[in-house]
Amino acid sequence: MPENSADEQWTCDLCGRATPSPSEGGTALTLEVSGRRPDGEWGDWYVGFCTQEHAAEWLSRPLPPPPGSDDAEAPPTSWADRAALTGCALVLLGLLALAILGAWTAADFLLHRT
Ligand SMILES: [Zn+2]
Repeated sequence: MPENSADEQWTCDLCGRATPSPSEGGTALTLEVSGRRPDGEWGDWYVGFCTQEHAAEWLSRPLPPPPGSDDAEAPPTSWADRAALTGCALVLLGLLALAILGAWTAADFLLHRT
C-alpha cells in the first residue's frame, strides 16, 4: 500500500516485497481502482506494485475486499455491525422505557400520597 509520504518505503500489494519510493530510485507503480467489491458494494482500491507484471497479475484476479482503512470512514454495513447497532438501539430503548416507568411510578407515588 503506497503511503502519502514519498520518503517512506511501502510494500507491493501482490508479493509484499518492500519497494523504495520513486524518489529513492524505486520503480513503483501505483493504481487507483474502482469496482464492485465481493459483497456487491462499490469500492476503491489504492494499490502499489513493485513491477508492472505484478500490477497486471493483481488486476487479472477478482477484486479483494478493500483495505481496513475504508471501514473506519464508511458506515458499518456487515451483518455483525448491524447486529451490534441493533443491540445498542434495543439497550437505549430499554433504558428509555425504564426511565419512563420510573417517572410514572414517582408521579403515581406523589399523586396518591396526598
Ligand atoms: Zn511485487
